[in-house]
Amino acid sequence: SKTIHVIGGGLAGCEAAWQIAKRGLSVTLHEMRPHRPTPAHQTDGLAELVCSNSLRSDDADYNAVGLLHEEMRRAGSLIMDCADRNKVPAGGALAVDRDGFSASVEQALLAQGNVTIMREEIAGLPPAAWEQVVIATGPLTSAPLAEAIRGITGEDSLAFFDAIAPIIHKDSIDFSKAWFQSRYDKGEGSDYINCPLSKDEYYAFIDALLAGEKVPFHEWEKDTPYFEGCLPVEVMAERGRETLAYGPGKPVGLTNPNGPKPYAVVQLRQDNKLGTLYNMVGFQTKLRHGEQARIFRMIPGLENAEFARLGGLHRNTFVNGPRVLDATLRLKAQPRLRLAGQITGCEGYVESSAIGLLAGLAAAAEALATDFVAPPATTALGAILAHVTGGAHADTYQPMNINFGLFPPAPERDERGKKIKGRDRKKLYSDRARADLEPWLSQI
Ligand code: FAD
Repeated sequence: SKTIHVIGGGLAGCEAAWQIAKRGLSVTLHEMRPHRPTPAHQTDGLAELVCSNSLRSDDADYNAVGLLHEEMRRAGSLIMDCADRNKVPAGGALAVDRDGFSASVEQALLAQGNVTIMREEIAGLPPAAWEQVVIATGPLTSAPLAEAIRGITGEDSLAFFDAIAPIIHKDSIDFSKAWFQSRYDKGEGSDYINCPLSKDEYYAFIDALLAGEKVPFHEWEKDTPYFEGCLPVEVMAERGRETLAYGPGKPVGLTNPNGPKPYAVVQLRQDNKLGTLYNMVGFQTKLRHGEQARIFRMIPGLENAEFARLGGLHRNTFVNGPRVLDATLRLKAQPRLRLAGQITGCEGYVESSAIGLLAGLAAAAEALATDFVAPPATTALGAILAHVTGGAHADTYQPMNINFGLFPPAPERDERGKKIKGRDRKKLYSDRARADLEPWLSQI
């Protein structure tokens, strides 16, 4: 049978190679380190964790990433197996000895027999003779390959930086203060959620933004271009105390049904098709995460906001998944190329590994001429796959961690009509996911 080529020996590439090899197919894994380093990797090991040694919460009942861990273990994940075997104490989190973890991944792949590891950069489009390729080159994909992918997807569909505005769970917004309305009632007329600020509230907010502690850029990120269209909100505030009130926060074309005409507004736009998540329009930021939560909760209506993700600005190569990928993670424009890991627009070690697992299953199914069955949308695996292949809106697409806001909403009330809140609601998501994963597992 023909060889499947996996480019990138990071978390996603190793997981994909493992899933393919486990199904009896031969795999060549191409990793450019140590010949060509990245600005963040320190070693020449496969599956190197570039920063924290934590794979985050291991609580599968109440935490979406913990649930993703459990689902990946049940689906035979190499990354989860090696993480479990190299676990170090970290309370409820799954943290690992990073060198032991990396070595375990490499040993497991080598022991597989049908995996060849080549230390070389693929500097441009993979050779035409390679009929099936998985590209898992991550947030720091080398420039010639990134440019080649950009050539296929089009300039607007591959980014070199993320500029992330915070995303909020809609059900944590206080609608006795906030209201739905589009400026001048354009579009559907109620596409945006608006939060009103009085003059005093506005100035207090600007002062907090200016004083808030920011995250410095890494040395190799210093030449980050600020695109005028997506300046960090605090940089906009530095240009003048009125810049926001006259810019994205101008209150024109809006009527506040809950009180007086505001001095400025903060608008939120629907972020996923399910309508469970809303992003803060124009609020990409380098503020520290703790500062973001504190300062953004000063906005009327957002006092109890729960953040599905906080803002940031990083070097990060990723495609516009919903626009350019098909349901099995292949580039629509060139289906022999399948993407996996963070380059698809998921975010984080675990999520990248999960998309590697699914890309591996899809590649193997294609090579074996069987159908790839996607995991149900109610599972964590299904939710993260849906995000990168079409659940998110293409025009505001930004990388995302797994969270329950990406799942189809669980019932809000029990049989007696009582509201299900907090931990109980999270448990509903996990229980439903567990039940729905079972039949899928028997199909893979
Ligand atoms: P990677 O793990 O980066 O693997 C990609 C591999 O492809 C690399 O080994 C690279 O050398 C190789 N490669 C690139 N181009 C080529 C080429 N042309 N030919 C051959 N090989 C190539 N996530 C977290 O969950 N927690 C964190 O604390 C965290 N901190 C981060 C800090 C930084 C500075 C960065 C950049 C990212 C961080 N992330 C973190 C995100 C994390 O890096 C990714 O989620 C994860 O590593 C992505 O996995 P991946 O397999 O897609 O990419």
